[in-house]
This record gives sequence, C-alpha cells and structure tokens, in this order.
Amino acid sequence: MHTPVPEYLQEVVDGLEDNRDGNVADYIPDLAAADPERFGLALATVGGRVHAAGDAGLEFSIQSVSKPFIYAAALVDRGFDRVLGSVGVEPSGEAFDELSLEADSHRPKNPMINAGAITTHQLLLGDDATCSERIARSVDFLSELAGRRLVIDESVMRSELDTADRNLALAHVLRNYQVFSSDAHEAVEGYTAQCSVLVTVEDLAVMGATLAGGGVQPITGRRVIPTDVARQTLSVMAAAGMYDAAGTWFSEIGIPAKSGVSGGMVGVLPGQVGIGVFSPRLDKHGNSVRGVEACRRLSTDMNLHLMGFD
Ligand code: GLU
Repeated sequence: MHTPVPEYLQEVVDGLEDNRDGNVADYIPDLAAADPERFGLALATVGGRVHAAGDAGLEFSIQSVSKPFIYAAALVDRGFDRVLGSVGVEPSGEAFDELSLEADSHRPKNPMINAGAITTHQLLLGDDATCSERIARSVDFLSELAGRRLVIDESVMRSELDTADRNLALAHVLRNYQVFSSDAHEAVEGYTAQCSVLVTVEDLAVMGATLAGGGVQPITGRRVIPTDVARQTLSVMAAAGMYDAAGTWFSEIGIPAKSGVSGGMVGVLPGQVGIGVFSPRLDKHGNSVRGVEACRRLSTDMNLHLMGFD
C-alpha cells in the first residue's frame, strides 16, 4: 500500500459514506437520537502514531466496546482463577442480551455478552468494593488506556437505566445462582456507567493499540495490562467479540474486535495496530454496518487477516 495513511483512511471513509444500510439502535432513547450519518475511522500503531478520518473528534458512548477492557481490568484486579471461576470463555452464538449460562456451573458463557459483562464489572477491585468505587475503577482504567481523562455521559446513563429491565432481570438471575452476591440494581448501575463512558474513534484506536502492544499504552509508554491479560482479552474478543456474527467476522476479516450498540468498534492486530470506527447504523447482529465494511477494506488492503498467508 503506497498511499499515505491519512489519505488512505479518508478514501475508506469516502468510499463507504453512501452506505446507508442498517438502523440506529432504538432500545435506549438517547441512542435512538444519534445522527446516523456520522462516520469516523482511526488507526493507532503500537509505536504511537495515530491517524484519523471523518468524524474523528466526535464523542459517543463506548457501550459494549468497554467489555473487553473491563474484563482486562478484572483480570488485573482479581487474577485468572477468580475471573474464570465466574465467567467462561466460550462463544455463545446468541444475542448479547441472552441469558447464556453454562448448564452446571451457571457461569455466564463469556464476558462479551451482557450476563458476563455485568458479572465482570462486579469482579472489579474486590468483593467488598462499593458501586461507586467500581464505577471509578472503570472510568480510571478506560482513561489510562485512552491516555486522557474520560467521563461518563450522564444523560445516556439515565436513559439506559430507565429502560434496563432486561439487564436487571439478568442481574437478578445471576444473583439467584450466586454468580455474584451484590445488589442487582447496583450491579446494573455499575455496568451501565461503564457503557456510558464517552470516547472518540481515536481513543478506541489507541486503546486497541494498547492491546496490540501486549498491554503497553503507545503514547504514554505505560504498561497498563500485563501481557498474559492482553492475550486472554484478545482471545476472548476473537472468539466472541462480534455478537452472534463472531465466527463469520473472524473468518472473513480475521482480527480480534468488539462492537457496541452505539455504533463504535475496536479492532486489534496484535503487534501492529488498533483500529477505532464509529457509525451508528447497525446490521441485524448489532454491528456497525460501515464499521464492519471499513474493517473489511483495511483487512484486505493491508493484509491484516491473522490467518492470512501473504
Ligand atoms: N449498555 C448496553 C446494554 O447493555 C450495551 C449493549 C451493547 O453495546 O451491546 O444494553
């Protein structure tokens, strides 16, 4: 590829701008109000170079893209045995809000579905931590990864909490099975706060590049995540990051990734780059239509597929 990166990214954005397939998520009122035309794309290298095109500075709520990063935080806080004792690593093949629990242990199948992510949030810090301490831990950790201070969008958080019946139901069932013992409302409040943190595509690219670099934040140079935790996080993203389209995604595009209902996506090519994309229209699996297509182009043009041979 000989075109300079900024021009190339702009070309990808221009080429997909006319794609108006899909629909903005409407089950959370604040998300339904998103401008469907917005589109941003960013690339960050493990060496700390960041390039972006389109709506690069636009902030949006991170939603489920927070899940792999908070999983990493839980692994840092509690260790592998404790986290794996509560949440599995098998793809569920079901929708993100299904109650996918393992038959005997009742562990949620993985940390990328809501049942697993609500549980993962409860693992932060320790059994005695308060709801506000876990929220602070989430915002601090995501900020460390982004290399700047991130904040919660209170309006998105309220909007989501007002309509959180399904997540509350999940939390009650998890508590019933003693997957965690904290108050169900507080568990959903903490998880929802984590989902309401505002980021840009540049933030997501840099956060992805931190995983790509084995846990070292490429701008600050700080080790935020140990290498074994980065490997575990990327493995779970590869297996279950793209909702119930995870297998198709990995076979076609071939990079660990995670998408969210606001239209954000992070992709990671280990040892090389992090990719951040935002475009609110989603396909039937809940993945950003333009986001998937942008990654498909990058994967093809730059030979990013992890199982590629050329
Ligand atoms: N906070 C959203 C929810 O739990 C996140 C869903 C998502 O991005 O998949 O409904």
